[in-house]
Amino acid sequence: MNFADLHLHTNFSDGTYTPEELTGRARQLGLAAVALTDHDTVEGCTRMAAACAAAGLEFIPATELTAEFDDNELHLLGYFVDTGNQTLLTEMVRFQKVRQDRVREMVARLNQLNIPLEADAVFALASCRSPGRPHVARALVMGRFCSSPDEAFERFLKKNRPAWVPKFKISALDAIALIHQAGGLAVMAHPGLNRTDGIIPDLVEAGLDGLECFHTKHPPSTSEHYIRIAKEFNLAITGGSDCHGLSKGKPLIGTVRLPYEYVEQLQARSRSKRSHAPAPRPALRAPH
Ligand SMILES: [Zn+2]
Ligand SMILES: [Zn+2]
Repeated sequence: MNFADLHLHTNFSDGTYTPEELTGRARQLGLAAVALTDHDTVEGCTRMAAACAAAGLEFIPATELTAEFDDNELHLLGYFVDTGNQTLLTEMVRFQKVRQDRVREMVARLNQLNIPLEADAVFALASCRSPGRPHVARALVMGRFCSSPDEAFERFLKKNRPAWVPKFKISALDAIALIHQAGGLAVMAHPGLNRTDGIIPDLVEAGLDGLECFHTKHPPSTSEHYIRIAKEFNLAITGGSDCHGLSKGKPLIGTVRLPYEYVEQLQARSRSKRSHAPAPRPALRAPH
């Protein structure tokens, strides 16, 4: 049986592997298909696609957007997005600017706590356009202010800790629309972490295409719970490890093995959606 891992990060966001290294790991693990879901960027997709093509692996371009709905934070995965879509790219530049400003703000708060970290040290270490808290954590470890990234989160960076800064988030409805206009499928990431099942019907109404039922932090009972909900709302079932390379201890790639039939179902959904595009208002579509 073939398996896929549809939730992976590279050093184009907060993962540690390059697209080529990640592809190498996927190949070693015998995966049939992978998706790259870096935060607020699709920059790594070109290199990952090339590496996967060379390795004989199927590749799905994607991204992960941080959004909110009714004060709940959620992450939306956009699968099969057109990585050259101008509106998507413009919006991502805006999200990246927000991330960079947030890093500066977190560093300013650390400075107030007498930790002489410099924002440039974080940016140099991140060397990507989507810096985030994991990079600040690593910079704190490198500067010997903390002994591990976990300690950095516990002491400073977790929500409501002294250097935590709230993050601007796009509304989930706008995020779904943004993914759709870029030709992608919008999938709610790791719903078991957010535990906000009540918002799922509203997201479905807004065009949500799928639920990430299988995830590293979903025990089997949670996966089964979300498979039931996905079936109830006719949503695609996806899954992935959410691997960040070595930044969160052991690399997780391949620890969640999504049966390949779900990849085929996702592809079929993508094809049928594209064949009906452009159809911004389905109600006005000509009958056929
Ligand atoms: Zn996430
Ligand atoms: Zn992720």
